[in-house]
Amino acid sequence: MDVAHETHGIVAEETLDPSDWTDVQALSHRVIDDAVDYLRELRDRPVWREMPADVRDAFTAPLSRSPAPLDAVYDEVSRTVMSYPMGNIHPRFWAWYMGSSNFTGALGDFLAAIQGSNLGGGNHAAGLMDGQVVNWCKEMLGFPASASGTLVSGGSMANIIGLTVARNTRAGIDVREHGVAAIEKPLRFYGSDQLHSCHRKAMEALGLGNRALRRIPTDAGSRIDILALRAAISEDRAAGFRPACVIGTAGTVNTGAIDDLRALAKLAHEEDLWFHVDGCIGALVAIAPDNAHRVAGIEWADSIALDPHKWLHAPFEVGCALVRDAVAHRRTFAVTPEYLESTPRGLASGEWLHDYGLQTSRGFRALKVWMALKEHGVDKFGRLIDQNIAQAFYLAGLIEAEPSLELAMPPTINIVCFRYQPGIAGEALKALNTEIMLRLQEQGIATLSDTTVHGDHWLRVAIANHRTRRDDLDLLVGETVRLGREIAGSS
Ligand SMILES: *Cc1c(COP(=O)(O)O)cnc(C)c1O
Repeated sequence: MDVAHETHGIVAEETLDPSDWTDVQALSHRVIDDAVDYLRELRDRPVWREMPADVRDAFTAPLSRSPAPLDAVYDEVSRTVMSYPMGNIHPRFWAWYMGSSNFTGALGDFLAAIQGSNLGGGNHAAGLMDGQVVNWCKEMLGFPASASGTLVSGGSMANIIGLTVARNTRAGIDVREHGVAAIEKPLRFYGSDQLHSCHRKAMEALGLGNRALRRIPTDAGSRIDILALRAAISEDRAAGFRPACVIGTAGTVNTGAIDDLRALAKLAHEEDLWFHVDGCIGALVAIAPDNAHRVAGIEWADSIALDPHKWLHAPFEVGCALVRDAVAHRRTFAVTPEYLESTPRGLASGEWLHDYGLQTSRGFRALKVWMALKEHGVDKFGRLIDQNIAQAFYLAGLIEAEPSLELAMPPTINIVCFRYQPGIAGEALKALNTEIMLRLQEQGIATLSDTTVHGDHWLRVAIANHRTRRDDLDLLVGETVRLGREIAGSS
């Protein structure tokens, strides 16, 4: 084939770039203007609302074959997606546990996508910034500079990273080469009965199985019972298991309880266990001046999972795993295939960041975190954490002052469990409170979730929200009582 001949003449090569950048520029200005309005007017909109049928139907449209002008694409996104958010950016969203995002972080995500770099590794600026943000996370927690770490999708993945290093380090064999079936004594991991569900998934994915994770009972404050933990460890040793790792929780999902991390660190040292801390909620309390004492001991962990998309309010997703022993961390994940060999100079001379986790291609998560930390300074994030905790105590005070409301337990940090209590019990009480929760959502007033603590059903308010004000909590209490009366009165 005559290549020169074949490529001669007019070949209409295509690109995804616009034929006219000025149009894109104009539309982009509109997108930014709309985005600013979106956040500026956020407080006046409902926290959440049900989607009408035509909006739902929009998401069943078949694969697009023909082009559409970008303005039309954007208009559809505005009408469907942007109009029906989850609501976690709203000042009165307190369900489950997540951050409320921020505009600077959104700009960071935009710029990261514009630059489009792949953080699997390489010698480029984004890679260095990724490492810098990991270093900042160590600094925030008082973790040694010699530790390693990696930014991942979130806390679940960060926990998996830490627990994988724990497994490989404590297995007594080369698990990477021979697999878990070759482990002589079955490994045992320990955590409280308040552990997040991601640890179960981690145990399953690690091939150890759910039963290898012993749930230790908690005290009245939902903290792990250290004596029961010691007893479980010796029982397991006597029965031929190999106790490998203890997982401390700094901030449980149900109530925000923080295990005694100092006691766990000491116990792990004495029993020769890996000490992992699930700090997805509470690790960052370390930067909050009034409350940092609550997580003392976290700096003694062998590995820590933390979640910048929670209390640093980074747009989803970004979690961070830190590992004290950088060599053990790298040894757990590093693989160098022939197509990813390093070179002494040039692009492939940078660090391969994929050697610290399971992903190969990695997004530029660091930028959104970096920009917001640079803009505000870490002290402000610490004050915001203190502010949320003070708001939780304020809410607890309002609940205690209202005779028809019952507080489950005093808060530790920013999670408050309570219920409307007109003097009934059991399923009827649960049904009433569930109905209150649903009406608060459906009327766009507030979004809470619910949970079971020590066998009882409670409404649950988790204030990880830099937009929440005390008057939002006043409103919550007033509306809960109003709805409670309304529902109890009509049944
Ligand atoms: C949120 C959370 C997780 C999971 O983190 P994701 O970012 O949702 O993956 C794990 N543990 C605790 C205690 C959490 O609160």
